[in-house]
Amino acid sequence: MGNADSTRWNDHVKARTVEQCMQLEITVFTERDLLRGPLTGGTLTLGTDLRLGVVIDTTGEHERLLGLQWQVTDLLGTTQTFEQWIVLTYVRPTRGTAAWRFQCPSWRGDESCGRRAAKLYLPSGDRTFACRQCWGLVYRSSQASGTYQASYRRMVGQAKEAGIALADAGLDLDAKDGAKALRDLVEGR
Ligand SMILES: [Zn+2]
Repeated sequence: MGNADSTRWNDHVKARTVEQCMQLEITVFTERDLLRGPLTGGTLTLGTDLRLGVVIDTTGEHERLLGLQWQVTDLLGTTQTFEQWIVLTYVRPTRGTAAWRFQCPSWRGDESCGRRAAKLYLPSGDRTFACRQCWGLVYRSSQASGTYQASYRRMVGQAKEAGIALADAGLDLDAKDGAKALRDLVEGR
């Protein structure tokens, strides 16, 4: 799926993180027992301001059909309405407990993803909910490599010993540039 919103980061495309997305969790429906029926509808708010109109068709035996509708107003004040239908399946694993799962509704060409997921994601600026794999999302904590994290921790330790106030240095420590600047700073003293 598109990654036009990904930002460049030291010549690597920095993957979007799950934290940057609206997250639709299956528990929203199961905890309120909304999948048992009869036909339910209502509104659901995700994050601070994404209001979803929701319809659930509960007539299927092992499946439910979830209809979502929402509106997004862009910076120019233009409002667009989006709609998406998502199938929910009751999964009975050979081990573990049975549970409801979304079937990822994403399409690539003629093939649908169909992965069973407990969460679907809507990246900011995009118009469909899909699974983490379809959007290529990573968790923020996994974005830095192990090596980078180890050297980063070592440098932070050195900086503390050297009495460098990081806030004063104005470093963005989440970026590799920040780590390099920190290294220069520590080694330069
Ligand atoms: Zn998917």
